[in-house]
Amino acid sequence: MKEKANDKKRPVSRRKFLGGFAVGATLPIAMQQAANAAVGVSGWDAITDVVVVGSGAGALSAAVTSSQLGEKVVVLEKSTVAGGTTAKSTGGIWAPNSHLLRAQGIVDKREDAIRYMVRLSFPDHYDPEHPQFGATPSGYALIATFYDEVASTVESLVNLGALNVTNVIAPRNVLMPDYFAHLPECRVTKGRIMFPMNEDGSFGGGAAMIRGLARVANMRGVSIELGQRVGSAIKDSSGRVVGVIVHGEDGRTRRIGARKGVVFATGGFTHNIEMCQQFLKGPIYGGCAAPSAEGDFVGIGAATGARLGNMQNAWWVQIPLEESIAVRSVATGIWCLPGDSMIQVNRYGRRFVDEKFVYNERTQAHFVWDAMSGTYPNLISILIYDERTSREYAGFPPVPPENLAPSYAMRADTLEGLAQAIDERFSALRKHIGSLTLDKQFVPNLHESITRFNGFARNGKDEEFGRGSVPIDRYFHQYGPRAVSNPMPDLTMHPISDRGPYYAILMAPGTLDTKGGPQTDPQARVLDNKGLAIPGLYGAGNCVASPTGPGYWGGGSTLGPALTFGRIAARTIHTANAAEFSG
Ligand SMILES: Cc1cc2nc3c(=O)[nH]c(=O)nc-3n(C[C@H](O)[C@H](O)[C@H](O)COP(=O)(O)OP(=O)(O)OC[C@H]3O[C@@H](n4cnc5c(N)ncnc54)[C@H](O)[C@@H]3O)c2cc1C
Repeated sequence: MKEKANDKKRPVSRRKFLGGFAVGATLPIAMQQAANAAVGVSGWDAITDVVVVGSGAGALSAAVTSSQLGEKVVVLEKSTVAGGTTAKSTGGIWAPNSHLLRAQGIVDKREDAIRYMVRLSFPDHYDPEHPQFGATPSGYALIATFYDEVASTVESLVNLGALNVTNVIAPRNVLMPDYFAHLPECRVTKGRIMFPMNEDGSFGGGAAMIRGLARVANMRGVSIELGQRVGSAIKDSSGRVVGVIVHGEDGRTRRIGARKGVVFATGGFTHNIEMCQQFLKGPIYGGCAAPSAEGDFVGIGAATGARLGNMQNAWWVQIPLEESIAVRSVATGIWCLPGDSMIQVNRYGRRFVDEKFVYNERTQAHFVWDAMSGTYPNLISILIYDERTSREYAGFPPVPPENLAPSYAMRADTLEGLAQAIDERFSALRKHIGSLTLDKQFVPNLHESITRFNGFARNGKDEEFGRGSVPIDRYFHQYGPRAVSNPMPDLTMHPISDRGPYYAILMAPGTLDTKGGPQTDPQARVLDNKGLAIPGLYGAGNCVASPTGPGYWGGGSTLGPALTFGRIAARTIHTANAAEFSG
């Protein structure tokens, strides 16, 4: 193997590569193991210029860019298939000032776009009069860099033949609104999200993105190795990260050296239950990230001395509780709650959020804390709908397809019967949700909630939660599931029938994936506890502290930064000095 030959030409002193690990005394055991893994392994099995860990959007963007810049790149992917959560995704990319917007004559000014992003990412400090709109200097720098780089990132991937994108959404050729298009800070209200297309122009999603990136990577000689779990980073005595230890599915453990740098883009920690419990700001029951989203870089990064950030936040999405109990990595999240003759209530039988609003925001309403009772009253919510929604929205998750009622959908002829079924279901799920019961007032409250909602539906105005009043509600309602004829003044609301049958589905908070991890700077360099860059170590995507903080600017806000900072990592690495591998 050529790299073996290289290896022989460049003998490596074991001593030189074991220094530099600073493992905090308080690190959890898993993190300490990640650091200790470097001890006792000697000799390089391969040496390359750039090691990229993961094969999702962030990773392949870095790999393609590095190869474009002439670096020799090895991609190491833990799973036996490439693409991670990206390959499962819809593939939307949020890109202000994109080439598509410019071609459409839409001006997306830097200051306006940054103001909007800061408004959502620093909601507690936002100040339109402040020079950085109230953001911290480092947070502002990341957001500004994202604005400055995302459009050229997409354009460069398009020019390379790795991406084919459109922001015009079929079948009605509309531009998708931003998630907070209703806020005055959102000056370009639609069209910032674009989607990957297949070669034939049909919708391609995240799978097309991965196919395109992987194809270009392969053409450029990038080696994508599957079934290779990176367990730790190796530092030299100067503190520079110079390689990784990787465990293959075949049982082999190898040390792979990186002359220029190591990029981690290993996804979040949705499927690491302990990390979710320790770090996230509210309890979750699963998520739609790929099963390999286990937070490996939290431990690996911490073991190199990285400073963690944004650990409490995630890309939130509702999931059907019982589906997630069966399989934690659910097929998809519930982007839009389907139906018009439908409401969502808590254990008191009360609505608690605009059912049609953005998944990320709806889901956080599950975490509301009731001080007096010391409980999360909305933690497990109940979707309630009638025969109209069951029929018209059949097959739009979580409403089951016709003739195929999954066990998680309960049905009863009366609301009283439905309440009894829900309580029985709570008992059956006690192992997972504790001793949760419906409140004694659930049935009368539910009757009242439905009566009120039906009045709102007839008048076309939801006086409680503003359902249907903002652009994204109407977009999700029509294009999420489908447009169903509704004679009421607001398409998103139709009175719930006064006759059964009625249906109920238990909904729980979950994630697309988390978005906390080692902090990075605008050059995608991983930072240590003093805020200094750890030489040789870079990160992008969900495995690092997201520049979005708690915010979700619009569809594609996860993939936009992942692609952008993956590319930035590659560019920064290109300017770095090569590590010394001899003596
Ligand atoms: C159904 C669905 C739809 C979505 N739609 C959108 C959308 O339209 N727009 C949007 O912006 N976001 C969307 N998302 C979210 C988006 O897919 C993710 O946020 C994004 O793909 C994360 O990219 P990434 O590069 O950070 O990580 P990933 O794509 O998750 O890739 C990480 C990779 O690293 C690998 N890995 C992990 N640990 C190791 C290790 N130790 N060694 C080697 N490899 C490792 C994993 O196996 C994985 O392949 C969606 C998600 C889902 C599930």
